[in-house]
Amino acid sequence: MKTLYELDELPPTGVVPEKMYASVIRSERYGRPDTAFATEIIDVPPVGRGEVLIYMMAAGINYNNVWAALGTPLDIIEFRRRAGEPEDFHIGGSEGSGIVWAVGDGVRDVRVGDHVVVSSCLWDETAPDIRGGADPITSSTVRAWGYETNYGSFAQFALAKEFQCLPKPERLGWAEAAAYILTGATAYRQLTGWQPNIVRPGDPVLIWGGAGGLGSMAIQIARVLGGEPIAVVSSAARADHCRKLGAQGVIDRTEFDHWGRLPDIGDDREFEPWRAEVRRFGTRFHEQLGDRRAPKIVLEHTGQGTIPTSIYLCDAAGMVVICGGTTGYHGDIDLRYLWMRQKRLQGSHFANTRQCRETTRLVTKGYLDPCLSVVGDFTDIGKFHQMMLDNAQPSGNMAVRISAIAGYE
Ligand code: NAP
Repeated sequence: MKTLYELDELPPTGVVPEKMYASVIRSERYGRPDTAFATEIIDVPPVGRGEVLIYMMAAGINYNNVWAALGTPLDIIEFRRRAGEPEDFHIGGSEGSGIVWAVGDGVRDVRVGDHVVVSSCLWDETAPDIRGGADPITSSTVRAWGYETNYGSFAQFALAKEFQCLPKPERLGWAEAAAYILTGATAYRQLTGWQPNIVRPGDPVLIWGGAGGLGSMAIQIARVLGGEPIAVVSSAARADHCRKLGAQGVIDRTEFDHWGRLPDIGDDREFEPWRAEVRRFGTRFHEQLGDRRAPKIVLEHTGQGTIPTSIYLCDAAGMVVICGGTTGYHGDIDLRYLWMRQKRLQGSHFANTRQCRETTRLVTKGYLDPCLSVVGDFTDIGKFHQMMLDNAQPSGNMAVRISAIAGYE
């Protein structure tokens, strides 16, 4: 048996070589994503109980491995070493598509040869909180796959838990199948997972970063549920993308000037211009919607720069649901708007298995397009993360081919 197969060379099904190609981050390369990732030859990891080894065909690109490359706000290699893991490298990649190549003891639901999509978080199914009835994605044992854990999708072979494997939608090629679950299922939980604040027919929904990965999925999900999504973008091309996906209206945030942290409330000289600008933003929202209703749900992930506006604009008894902080983590809130109008600020993180399956069903049935904008090669992983950091990525989701096998497109 060969010890290593080339990226364009398919090993016999189920044959696991000793080594694999991987796109690796090391702490001495932390910094710009385009130089933090490098192709290396690494040992294929052993498969433990309840685990599955997947021969990766394609991988989605996501913001969390921008953070991994930068080494901040979390030094993920150090984080795992402190938890007792021996590896001094990080193989990222939090979603992808591939073929089940080996299964560990106790695996029942997938078999060698199955074509799967791998979802983005894992947990310990025996954890006391889960056994006590907690939604697994809220467990203290949750880890983002290929971010907080090693051996993600940026390698020939990836290690995942059995429950992360979803049947690959047959209508999709490998690259499209690799790029919808992380952003799609996260947006799905945000928009459907927090009763009673779920999208109902006719509900106005404000979606930040509408042309991004998360935003592109959120616009479509809001539409499927009968909502009226208004997307925020920073260019005319991104506005077009959102309208094509079903956005009822689009706001160009570059026409406003009140971003970032709130001015001090006693400081009228600063606060009044802020209030005037956020009101102007609200008026634009109404113009785009076609009436004077406020958003029932605001889909947040941009964080520090936008959260004061989100809280201000959100309808009474509505919800701002947040899953990230691209522009920073200090979320200033004028609490008067929150309690007097009984609004809800809800944290949300990826999705549970049911929500992943339902998202996949929407994709399989054609209600949800993965919005794949660009497909790169294995060596483009760093470049694509750099584009994300620079906010210079094309609209939608990005993917790279891992094992570019002829006939397996
Ligand atoms: P993405 O494709 O890069 O999109 C991000 C969008 O943010 C861009 O399209 C951009 O839109 C917008 N943006 C950038 N700078 C901004 C600013 N200063 N003010 C307002 N908007 C700005 O990233 P993504 O995949 O959608 O992910 C977005 C965020 O969500 C990331 O922080 C990611 O880590 C987080 N996330 C978290 C989870 C979770 O489970 N917790 C899951 C998925 C994503 P415009 O410039 O056009 O406005």
